[in-house]
Amino acid sequence: MDYYSDQINRLVEELVSLPGIGSKSAQRLAFHILNMPKEQVERLSNTILEARTHVQYCNECFTLTDDALCPICKSNKRDHRTIMVVENSRDLAAYEKTGKYEGVYHVLHGAISPMLGIGPGDIRLKELLVRLQKDVEEVIIATNSSLEGETTAMYISKLIKPTGIKVTRIASGVPVGGDLEYIDEVTLLRALEGRREL
Ligand code: ZN
Repeated sequence: MDYYSDQINRLVEELVSLPGIGSKSAQRLAFHILNMPKEQVERLSNTILEARTHVQYCNECFTLTDDALCPICKSNKRDHRTIMVVENSRDLAAYEKTGKYEGVYHVLHGAISPMLGIGPGDIRLKELLVRLQKDVEEVIIATNSSLEGETTAMYISKLIKPTGIKVTRIASGVPVGGDLEYIDEVTLLRALEGRREL
């Protein structure tokens, strides 16, 4: 990219390091940004910086939020004895969009993947076990139906079984290898309603 100035190259390089942004998209975005009014660029960069500075993990469920506790964990309208385990905050959002789930969540921030060298210690599993020492009735495992998601589900169910807490897995209405966040709400609800005990 020698045909651009150093400044432009630096901007393109930063953008290309983002997921899903190839070299062409990065160049298009870079020129779009350079043509934006300066105030708008300022607003964008401040918003990114502020979000990165203030967003933190919920102390209870570990989703990303603005406070020590997320709105779901804070709410007394939710059933705190039912915990749905999801891989990331986007999956949590997908289930929240259905508006039908009344329990709380636990966000693992990943899934066990021996191939990628991600072990049980690399996701928020210890934190889940700590939560289970409180009054918990059911743990619904809603990890993706990918190999990693299934491995994680089996691992968690084996950990929880001895505690006597009910462990369920969402139904396989969710297509194999499908990311929860891309699945429509009806399918998500059907998967939740059809969950089976492990
Ligand atoms: Zn929370």
